[in-house]
Amino acid sequence: MPSSRSPRTARLPGFYRLGVAERRRRLLEAAGLASDGFAAIDPGALSIDAADGMIENVLGTYALPFAVAVNFTVDELDALVPMAIEEPSVVAAASNAARMTRPRGFSTRVAAPVMIGQIQITQVADVEAGASAVRAAAASLVADARRLVPRLAERGGGPVALDVRVLARTGPDGGVLVAHLHVDCRDAMGANLVNTLCESLADRVAQLAGGQPGLRILSNLSDGRTVTVTCSIDDAQLTSPEGDGPEVRRLIAAASRFAELDPYRAATHNKGIMNGVDAVLVATGQDWRAVEAGAHAYAARTGTYRPLAVWRERTGGLDGELVMPLAVGTVGGALHVHPGARLALDLAGAHSGERLAALCAAAGLATNFAALRALATEGIQRGHMSLHARGLARAAGATGDLVEQVAAELSALGEIKADRAREVLARLCSSHVVKDIP
Ligand code: NAD
Repeated sequence: MPSSRSPRTARLPGFYRLGVAERRRRLLEAAGLASDGFAAIDPGALSIDAADGMIENVLGTYALPFAVAVNFTVDELDALVPMAIEEPSVVAAASNAARMTRPRGFSTRVAAPVMIGQIQITQVADVEAGASAVRAAAASLVADARRLVPRLAERGGGPVALDVRVLARTGPDGGVLVAHLHVDCRDAMGANLVNTLCESLADRVAQLAGGQPGLRILSNLSDGRTVTVTCSIDDAQLTSPEGDGPEVRRLIAAASRFAELDPYRAATHNKGIMNGVDAVLVATGQDWRAVEAGAHAYAARTGTYRPLAVWRERTGGLDGELVMPLAVGTVGGALHVHPGARLALDLAGAHSGERLAALCAAAGLATNFAALRALATEGIQRGHMSLHARGLARAAGATGDLVEQVAAELSALGEIKADRAREVLARLCSSHVVKDIP
């Protein structure tokens, strides 16, 4: 495995202006990776054989752009934040927002990595007596479960508690109970670990309760495994052509309150958070569906769908806080086979589940801030459309300097369209105004 370290600084001004080869050189140096480090994301790095072993009916592998967001300081350590995503603007927005939080950066509190495994028991004749019997045996059930995972227990993890709830007294499934086995999964996401433990305990729990064992699987509402991340941005950083710092601060706080009042807005607000979180999850080989499911269930836990992050004004600046469950791992899952995911963890210097969760949350708060700032001031379309213009220029066949020239002309014309990009490119080529003709 390549060695890696936290970069001395993740503040890399002008990184976006470098060519890909120079970016790679700078990052290998900054993260202390072996010189062939980026082979892990080159075409073919994930072999067809490896892919065929991962899922069914494999036909090939599927590429996404892989990048790092720069400028992040998380818990006083600089970090390069790997992202794999198809959507323009997310990496730039995260890097820009992270720059504005410096030098303090982001601070996190990561809860113990405790997952919940559910054991459903149906056809319980007397649910109160059944629940009492399971509760009375909880310590012995947990001790039995711990014996099944000795190595995890040696690492300081393993089953820590068991509790039980009554879900129904009567109905098509008779009396229904659910037992929750709480398992500290250390650096693993933990789904397989927890599922195995639940399957092992289910018969005994059902017997104690006087019912039938039902489903035995983890809950993706891992509401004990949360990350809280905060940051603070001064008015001086908030000033933009659309307004001075205090005005932008007021507009962002108002945008936060809008999400707190309205689930329709909260959904989009949280999507802006997941832009950053998911990009890191995909790059680092995580089960992003599990995190998505947990995030939205957590957002709706009060019965109303709420924003996961809020922003409040303070004298001279703005404070943001995001709280969300983040079940991520630096061992297990796809990580033993996916070379790109391993590289991403190395680039990030994320060698524990705790650090990875902290980086994901910081990325989420950063992209949330960037979206709110853009929406509260110029709107997001300007930034999106200039990236879109570059994409259209490339699709029309532009390379090198021509990409910027075509994109600039499309923006000036106010017509970000594919046919217009082809016309502009043809004209620029025929008039020889550029050196770099494809
Ligand atoms: P896993 O099955 O690979 O187990 C992790 C392994 O790593 C364990 O054997 C553990 O003993 C070992 N390990 C080594 N060092 C460790 C350390 N420091 N901390 C913790 N464990 C350590 O992986 P998993 O995390 O149990 O399961 C994750 C996979 O399960 C993902 O691929 C996910 O997609 C999948 N999954 C998800 C769901 C769901 O979310 N609903 C359901 C089923 C499966």
